[in-house]
Order: sequence, then structure tokens, then C-alpha cells
Amino acid sequence: MLPVNQAESIILDLVQPLDSQLDSEIIDLSAATGRILAAPVTSQLDFPHWDNSAMDGYAVRYADVHSASEQQPIRLELVEDIPAGYQPQKTIAAGQSARIFTGACMPQGADTVVMQEHTLREDNHVLILQAPKPQGFVRHQASFYRAGEPLLATGIQLGAPEIAVLAAAQCTELTVYRRPKVAILSTGNELVTPYQPLQPGQIVDSNQYALAAWVTLCGGIPKVQGIVRDKPDALKQAIAQAIPAADMVLSTGGVSVGDYDYVDEILAQLGAEIHIRSVAVKPGKPLTVAMFPPHQGNKKGSSHPVLYFGLPGNPVSALVSCWRFVQPAMRKRSGLPMQRWKPRFINAISRNELKSDGRRESYLWGQLQLVEGNYEFNLAGGSHSSGNLINLAQTTGLAMIPVGQTLILEGETVQVLSVGFEFSR
Ligand code: AMP
Ligand code: MG
Repeated sequence: MLPVNQAESIILDLVQPLDSQLDSEIIDLSAATGRILAAPVTSQLDFPHWDNSAMDGYAVRYADVHSASEQQPIRLELVEDIPAGYQPQKTIAAGQSARIFTGACMPQGADTVVMQEHTLREDNHVLILQAPKPQGFVRHQASFYRAGEPLLATGIQLGAPEIAVLAAAQCTELTVYRRPKVAILSTGNELVTPYQPLQPGQIVDSNQYALAAWVTLCGGIPKVQGIVRDKPDALKQAIAQAIPAADMVLSTGGVSVGDYDYVDEILAQLGAEIHIRSVAVKPGKPLTVAMFPPHQGNKKGSSHPVLYFGLPGNPVSALVSCWRFVQPAMRKRSGLPMQRWKPRFINAISRNELKSDGRRESYLWGQLQLVEGNYEFNLAGGSHSSGNLINLAQTTGLAMIPVGQTLILEGETVQVLSVGFEFSR
């Protein structure tokens, strides 16, 4: 049984990130949410695109108004109104000014904006009542970004702020990593779909649905292969079929030491190298991690290595293993930068007593919440048997109890793995 951290390192070492050239595609900005840039973006536009006003007020020549005061206001002629979106037609000469609004283009000749509050309007003249700062309230062309410079780097995941930047910079075609394809199969003679009538002794295959949802939330494409019976031939065929079209394969069940647990044997027969068989973690001890080299394990061949995760069948164990071990692999494969591969642990105050047998690293599920500026962990109510899946709903954190520790008291600090925010940074 491997310690959890060692298993995590082995897994991350096995994963090859997608190739920024071979594994990229060009998409439109409107379809970019959550995607990861596979090439840096540059814009042909300066930002701001032209000198513009940061205030509603009057565009002036600083030299005209530097001595203005309430006692000795400066009177300027108004030559033009410049709302946002309008291209100024006049050049401001000595003794002149233009009415200007926020975001509007500065007119030729003017170099400073006087805010409206420091002026008094008199028909087609304005009195300047206070000296502005030289170049005050002018946003200069290219002061935020100069055309041709790098705008967003490879590896950046596109959320609302990045999409705002890309839209403003008119970068509408983007090179992004393709979404990793993840084959999912459920093994077990006892399994039926959620749509079939349940006979005594049967179990509904919830894993397939849970894992497909998880893959989608991680930005991957789930390739659902359905239920596979615990027969070596059927299993061999299903796994061989899954490999060519996948970056990763997730199977559940069949990795313990029961009479019907064939997965490891079949992986070896298909040419995979098995790197992990079990991890000292609770829930989820049986965990098989294997690697199919390129062009092996299938007839058609795949051009890249395929990572195989044989997850425990138990639905709680399957999802916890997925969050703890598959998520870092998905993140690395997707093209995210290294600082985003590792699971996110947050120090939180436990609102409950947390117990473990101290022999394996234990994960207890519940809610990670921010309460008045402090993170708190609330243990899910009900049984924490790995056979109970019902109280898994609404899980946002997994409290971790390290090996050797058996108790965390209410009010003590616990490290919590943040889960369920697959998109978060
Ligand atoms: P196994 O790892 O195959 O021994 O399965 C462990 C437990 O998880 C058994 O009670 C199975 O019935 C249950 N189980 C296995 N696969 C699934 C699945 N796809 N969905 C829900 N429960 C499952
Ligand atoms: Mg089974």
C-alpha cells in the first residue's frame, strides 16, 4: 500500500500534458468559456485604442488653465460636444475647450480634462474654477496595453475576466487545447442502469453518471462505455475498445481482491504497465493506476500513452479517489500550468469531532464554508460508511486526517481538500 503523497507523485509523473500544437484547436470566442489557451494571444489594438477622457467634463489645453481658481476663473470658448462614440472634428486652439464625456475621444490640441464639478457653464463658454493636474483625467492610448505585446499566455483558463479582455481586444479566434477524452466504464454483474427496474440484489450504476458529470465539470469529454459484466473476455474487449479514443480511462469496480476482480490481470494482458495497485487511503484503498504505451493494448493503436485508473466500485470511494488522484492528472493533461495541478487543501476550523483509525490517510466529506472570513468544515450528517452515498450530496470539502492521527476535536484546524469547484482557480 502506497502512501497518498507517493501515489500522487507517481500519477503526476506518468501524465503527459497535451501538446500545444498537436492537441490544439481553433475556436470562436463565443465558445471559449473554461477552455485553456494553447498559444499566447496578442492583439493588434492598443488599449485604450485612443486618448480618451476618464471623466465627464471639459477637454482643455493645460497651458490655458494652470492658474485657474474660484477667485480668478478662466473662461474658455466651447467649440464642440464630444459624447462617447463620436470622433472629434475640431482642434482645440488657445482659449478653447470641448464638452467631453467619459470614454470619449480627446480632441486634437487638448491634453487635459477638467472634471465637470470644477466648472461653471455659461451658454457656449465654460468657466474653469480650479487648476487641473497636467494631463489630468486623460487615459492615454496604449497606456494599458500596446498592440503586438503578449496579452494572455499559454495555459490560461478562460473565465469571465479573460473573456472580457479578449472581447475588448477583438481576439475572436483562439487556439486552445482540445478537451481530454475520458472513457468511463462500470464493471459488475450486479449493475443496472437508473432506467431499469431493480431486481433483488441488484445495484444501480451510479458511478458512470457521477464520473461523466465530474469529467464534464473538469473540462473533459466523457466517453461513456456503459456497464461491463465481470467476465474476463467482456472486460478485455471493453478496455481494448476504450483505449484508442481516450486520453484516460476510468473504470470502477473489479480492483479489489474478490473472486470477480479481473481488472489488473486484464490490463497486464493488454500490455499496460501497472504502477499502483493500492493506496493507504480511506475510503478507496484499492486503486489501480496503469499506463498503456502508445500503439499498444489495441488493434487500431493510439498515438499517445493512455493512463488507466481502476477505481473502487463503491460510489463514495470512486468519487473520493477521483477528486484526490484523478483530478490532478486531468489538470496536468488538460494543459493547465504546474501550479494548478496539485489538489487544493485549505486550513479550516472543524465544527465537528473527526475520527479515523489512524492507519490510512482518511477523508471525511462535508461542507467547506467561509464564515465571517474564516474557513469552516461541517461534517456531513449521517453515516460515514463508504457504503452510504446519500449524504455525499452537497459535498464541497473532504477533511483529511493524516496517518497516525485518530482524532481532530471540534474547533481544531483541519486540512480540507476543496472539491466540487472543478472550474475554480
Ligand atoms: P467492487 O469494487 O466491484 O467490489 O464493488 C464494491 C461495491 O461497490 C459493491 O457493493 C458494488 O455493488 C458497488 N458498485 C460497484 N460498481 C458500482 C457502480 N458502477 N455504481 C454503484 N455501485 C457500484
Ligand atoms: Mg464488482
